[in-house]
Amino acid sequence: MAPRDRPSPNFDARPAGQAVDMLLLHYTGMESEEAALARLCDPAAKVSAHYCIGEDGGVTRLVDEAARAWHAGAGLWAGASDINARSIGIELVNPGHEFGYRAFPQDQIAALIVLAQDILSRHPIPAARVLGHADVAPLRKQDPGELFPWARLAAAGIGLWPEAPPEAPVPEAAAIKHRLAAFGYGYLEEDFEAVVRAFQRHFQPRNVTGIADARTAAILQTLPD
Ligand SMILES: [Zn+2]
Repeated sequence: MAPRDRPSPNFDARPAGQAVDMLLLHYTGMESEEAALARLCDPAAKVSAHYCIGEDGGVTRLVDEAARAWHAGAGLWAGASDINARSIGIELVNPGHEFGYRAFPQDQIAALIVLAQDILSRHPIPAARVLGHADVAPLRKQDPGELFPWARLAAAGIGLWPEAPPEAPVPEAAAIKHRLAAFGYGYLEEDFEAVVRAFQRHFQPRNVTGIADARTAAILQTLPD
């Protein structure tokens, strides 16, 4: 299915010379696709994304990739705070934790894989910088959440899905903090538990507790600095 265009006014220019080196995935967190698209195109809402993918796999292009879409809001990754300046944002239609969070359908994920592979072929985005909104804004956001199939994406060459070694010592909090910061997470001093929860939603989705355990540490050990 070819993307349809529904231009959003909610964008501005990327800073001169800024490379796109991050792909950020979201869920819409609204009751319907139409409601989400209307909001993403509403000048009063001042939010957008480059693309939105329906549960049927239909792709809507909202903002040109050359422009800065307004999808991330306040965030931090590897010390950088203007996430929108350096990223492409994709919204996935899903009611989210507020309106009835549910599995992402096969057709939606298949469309996402095609789109993301195309984006990655055109921009220098490392696998470790294919992230969820909650990764960069762990104090405010949960999307795309623990039902998002990161392992399936990684199998298609999109993002990381580390296979953790089975045994690891139970970690000291300081060591966990150090590793989370080295991978890129921010806000560790503000709310460590929220950051651990964001990490778990992405990399340890059957154990979203906010408490780092031995498996959390083992997975972290496999991620790059
Ligand atoms: Zn989001």
